[in-house]
Amino acid sequence: VTPENGPEMSDATRVLRRVFGYDSFRDGQQEIIEHVVAGGDALVLMPTGGGKSLCYQIPALVRKGVGVVVSPLIALMQDQVDALTALGVRAGFLNSTQEFEERRQVESAFLSGELDLLYLAPERLRLDATLRLLDSGVVSLFAIDEAHCVAQWGHDFRPDYLALSALHERWPDVPRVALTATATPATHAEIAARLNLQDARHFVAGFDRPNIQYRIAPKNEPRRQLLELIRTEHPGDAGIVYCLSRSSVEKIAEFLTGNGVRALPYHAGLDARTRAENQARFLREDGLVMVATIAFGMGIDKPDVRFVAHLDLPKSVEGYYQETGRAGRDGLPSTAWLAYGLQDVVQQRKMIDTSEGDETHRRRLAGHLDAMLELCETVECRRVRLLAYFGQRGEPCGNCDTCLSPAQSWDATVPAQKVLSTVFRLMRERRQKFGAGQIVDILLGRKTAKVIQFDHDALTVFGVGTELGEAEWRGVVRQLLVQGLLAVEGDYGTLVLTDASAEVLGRRRQVLMRREPERPARAAKAARQ
Ligand code: ADP
Ligand code: ZN
Repeated sequence: VTPENGPEMSDATRVLRRVFGYDSFRDGQQEIIEHVVAGGDALVLMPTGGGKSLCYQIPALVRKGVGVVVSPLIALMQDQVDALTALGVRAGFLNSTQEFEERRQVESAFLSGELDLLYLAPERLRLDATLRLLDSGVVSLFAIDEAHCVAQWGHDFRPDYLALSALHERWPDVPRVALTATATPATHAEIAARLNLQDARHFVAGFDRPNIQYRIAPKNEPRRQLLELIRTEHPGDAGIVYCLSRSSVEKIAEFLTGNGVRALPYHAGLDARTRAENQARFLREDGLVMVATIAFGMGIDKPDVRFVAHLDLPKSVEGYYQETGRAGRDGLPSTAWLAYGLQDVVQQRKMIDTSEGDETHRRRLAGHLDAMLELCETVECRRVRLLAYFGQRGEPCGNCDTCLSPAQSWDATVPAQKVLSTVFRLMRERRQKFGAGQIVDILLGRKTAKVIQFDHDALTVFGVGTELGEAEWRGVVRQLLVQGLLAVEGDYGTLVLTDASAEVLGRRRQVLMRREPERPARAAKAARQ
């Protein structure tokens, strides 16, 4: 006998079963829900797919009045409301996409207590009319979704979120729950401070997503590598491929389509209709691959995304974690694969140097990038590093590329000296600066047109690097950049020495580097079978 109405079952559990049709709560949900039902404020940190929505939906149903949900995801409000309506929950939304009449109907439903949940775009709360509307009804709680949007230096900052600190002053008795999947302890503190949530209880769910296999591969021929990943490990699976620019999104989508993979593009440059259509198809159809910029994904709830591939380096670990977290929400084995190379480092360093904003801002961006680079270059378990970034501890997971085919570090002091000395000679003897391509050509002793044009075959370092191949040399340059032993300068990505370079050139410093395992993809696949 299931104790459907037994006295030992809480209101929350009853709603979970009756309305949402789930048997039990997931980790963390029940505690949060009970705290909010009892009127407490909460700051909820839970990974994407962890089940944050129920943490405010159930309290809104249990408490008297209407739960007001602030969400930046205007494009998804209709879907969210439709999904709730299908479950018999009375929900509505107010945002700028609506006609006057539609808005009026939602407002009158709110006032007459015929709503359980009301979704609002944050800019609505800047309008006096909205504040007066909320005053005239009964609000059971405020849920602030995607709360990291209040973090000023975060990648999703929305100025409208700053106004949300006023909710507490105007409605001191209404509990507030702020939710996010993105939070280092620092962002975490910023959210609490900016939203006036000093007294809120913090709920931090485990950030580990054990079913996701994290892999970071050296980028050689990204298209071929991507195609091989899809063909050998994920044929016919739904997946997301992230690219940095709109034009690479278009090109990769075309490339995949041309190679028999059903793929769609998504970026902010497409018109709203195409975007909405592609998104709807991705959600509805099986086995589609979405090639997208980071404009795609926030709030997308598709449980069976089997892989997330990054063809360009994400700007921060938080972004990486959030994007990869869209894989495997159903808990089944999934892949997070990132291809990463020298050009990524050069490009991102350049972007930071030329970015708007003051020195503090640039330093912060550089800090985000460095943390991401550390994750890429680590010889430790990726998951351990990832969790450590979020202030959590983990054991080597056995399900990431470094666990499956342990990366070794090697003594790269001599190759490092060769690269640095080439840069040094060009700067000193020729008053010239060049990018990585030319440095590698000189080391390999290649008489390219550009080498001959600049008479670089006369340098003493010409041809001293035949012990390594081109890809390996590029790897050495990349790791020198990551370790701060070389720097990028100017618009052309030319390489220059740093203060630390002298220590290596002067043989006072040893340089250790990560040796790339031969074929991480194969090894990982074999281990899974
Ligand atoms: P988040 O907002 O944290 O990314 P969602 O709230 O969208 O995650 O939940 C992710 C998925 O998990 C949804 O499909 C949701 O219905 C499902 N889910 C949430 N809680 C439970 C539960 N207790 N039992 C089963 N499924 C759940
Ligand atoms: Zn691992």
